[in-house]
Amino acid sequence: MRCSICGAKLKKEEGDICVNCYKEYQEEEELKKDVNEQLRIKRKYSISYEILKYMEIIVIFLLTIVVLLLSGKIFETVLLIGISLIILGFLFFIDKRIAIGTLAIFYEKKVTYTFKFLFFNVKKTIKYSDISDVRVFQTHRQKKFGYGDLCIYGKGIIPGSSFINGFQIKNIENVLDALVEVGKIVELEKKQK
Ligand SMILES: [Zn+2]
Repeated sequence: MRCSICGAKLKKEEGDICVNCYKEYQEEEELKKDVNEQLRIKRKYSISYEILKYMEIIVIFLLTIVVLLLSGKIFETVLLIGISLIILGFLFFIDKRIAIGTLAIFYEKKVTYTFKFLFFNVKKTIKYSDISDVRVFQTHRQKKFGYGDLCIYGKGIIPGSSFINGFQIKNIENVLDALVEVGKIVELEKKQK
């Protein structure tokens, strides 16, 4: 007889599936029962941060508009104002949609990550026992707002290289507090000992 899931040879005393697959099945069932929410983390969207983020583009638009206006080109000025508003509106809109579609929910033993944007629809569930590290990255602009990117690394992945076994949420509000809370829930200290 062979295991009906992985195909491994079965010993006589085993049933339809092997010990390993049974363990995995039990773990999955155990995870499904874990519905006690501890923490929700979202990507933050704010107009003031968006303005800072796209500062260079805004400055270039403004300077060009001023130059056009001073040289008396009224039609070009109005046209450029229109184009500027459309481009910035589009950039802001995309960031807003991404923020709405991004969410991590931390339960007692697992975290679920969802990302929905256009045709992307990612959903991941990661056991805390499979998390190897949690880190925060902040740019200067993010620091001004207390924002940062929270990165959850799965085991077997070199931090910074890939998120295949983990995920990243950008622009989290009060990110350093969030990091402490996530560290407690995931019990990161225990792992690092
Ligand atoms: Zn098996």
